[in-house]
Amino acid sequence: MDLSLYIDGEWITDRATLPVLNPATEEVIAHLPLATAADLDRAVAAAVRGFRVWRDTPIADRTRILLKAADLLTARADRVARVMTLEQGKPLAEARGEVLRVAGALRWDAEDARRAYGRIIPSEAGTVLSVRHEPVGPVAAFTPWNFPAGSPMRKLAGALSAGCSIVIKASEETPSTAVEIVRCFAEAGLPPGALNLVFGDPAEVSTHLIEAPEIRLIAFTGSIPVGKLLAGRAGAQMKPSLMELGGHAPVIVCADADPVQAARKAAVAKFVNAGQVCTSPSRFLVHESIHDEFVAAFLAAVDRVVVGDGLDDGVTMGPLANPRRLKAMEELVTDAVSRGAVLQRGGERLDRPGFFFPPTVLTGVPLDARVMVEEPFGPIAPIVSFADLDEALRIANTLPYGLAAYGFTRSSTTTEKLVTGLEAGILSINHCGGSVPEAPSGGVKQSGYGREGGPEGLEAYLVTKRVSHLLV
Ligand code: NAD
Repeated sequence: MDLSLYIDGEWITDRATLPVLNPATEEVIAHLPLATAADLDRAVAAAVRGFRVWRDTPIADRTRILLKAADLLTARADRVARVMTLEQGKPLAEARGEVLRVAGALRWDAEDARRAYGRIIPSEAGTVLSVRHEPVGPVAAFTPWNFPAGSPMRKLAGALSAGCSIVIKASEETPSTAVEIVRCFAEAGLPPGALNLVFGDPAEVSTHLIEAPEIRLIAFTGSIPVGKLLAGRAGAQMKPSLMELGGHAPVIVCADADPVQAARKAAVAKFVNAGQVCTSPSRFLVHESIHDEFVAAFLAAVDRVVVGDGLDDGVTMGPLANPRRLKAMEELVTDAVSRGAVLQRGGERLDRPGFFFPPTVLTGVPLDARVMVEEPFGPIAPIVSFADLDEALRIANTLPYGLAAYGFTRSSTTTEKLVTGLEAGILSINHCGGSVPEAPSGGVKQSGYGREGGPEGLEAYLVTKRVSHLLV
């Protein structure tokens, strides 16, 4: 895999490098060049020039270039998916689905930008009072390793469609997918400087870019502690930020739900990307009257999961993306079992090369076990029973997270109670809905602020200007 930085329209490879691993084999598969401080300064200067050019490019030309990038990515979906599986581990079909989805998200944002209407407000005679939406300026974005295409594209699509330029630091652990995506934009004709891709020490790069006066907005996806750090730095410079942070999604299965259907749907969602998803269902609260039936159906679904190298046919769950997640899974299971939880499946890393951890199910988990309090970000499903819905809602809302939540019920009254009662930015009833280009995703409470997707996703990269024009 040929890895490069991309600054001011130039691909740069001759820098000190970092090895990139295949999590299924632990083998080094590539060497990633890292940006120096001078490279970051060049990227910011390029983004300032690129912003002026891109902002002033007629909207029809901007849309044409972005749609061409989406077409190139679609045409290359098989190759990009393979690269993603090699560096991140997810099964090839999941990787391919992600590439096609992000191409769709780019198309949606590019088209939506054509409708970034302002308005004329009735005003005093002789005055034209209007509101315009303008791109905020050069953006600095930081994205993680779990969705190597999805996370970068959400930011690239939003920023570029709005007319902003961007300096993006994608994950050093999954850089090849980001490089492939940037190639599509470059080949589609994006002007130099509008998009700059860098890698490096995350803390050094983020400090450098956030403090650069020319950068006008910070966009981050990742953990809550890092999000707070970056939002604090941005706030100190009075720069707006978008924070897509972690979650610990409750799944409330009510007494009147079909326990078998609920278990099947929740189990499929749970093990997507080996549970390394910020919206992954991760705390299962099941009414005591259907608890045993739910657990039996969930375990049957777990037994159908095929763990292996994501490149192999038939595999439905790959390895964890890095050894940090393996260690975290082991610690969460040990803690839960030591507090009295019952281990129903999995629980130990697999005895083979690669960062493999099996689907793991715990029942009877005390509410103060770490896995019920800390985002697991891995293939662990803790299941507990509850007696009444108010108690389940209290448990669901007790944590500082507020990203996704799920409910299963056949009653419209109970649905309304869940919809109004659950503190979350993303709610699915009777299924585990994924993100779509036309609707916003984002959190409340410590899961962050700002939205990606839908018209709200574009608004995040626009500023409002009031113009009062006295006719002379
Ligand atoms: P981490 O907190 O070390 O890093 C999370 C992400 O932030 C990584 O992409 C990392 O490169 C980046 N990062 C870390 N320090 C940074 C800094 N100072 N400036 C800029 N970027 C920085 O955790 P990790 O081990 O990589 O991931 C584990 C945890 O991260 C999970 O438990 C989960 O909560 C969270 N996470 C969340 C998402 C999400 O989609 N919201 C994605 C990946 C990871």
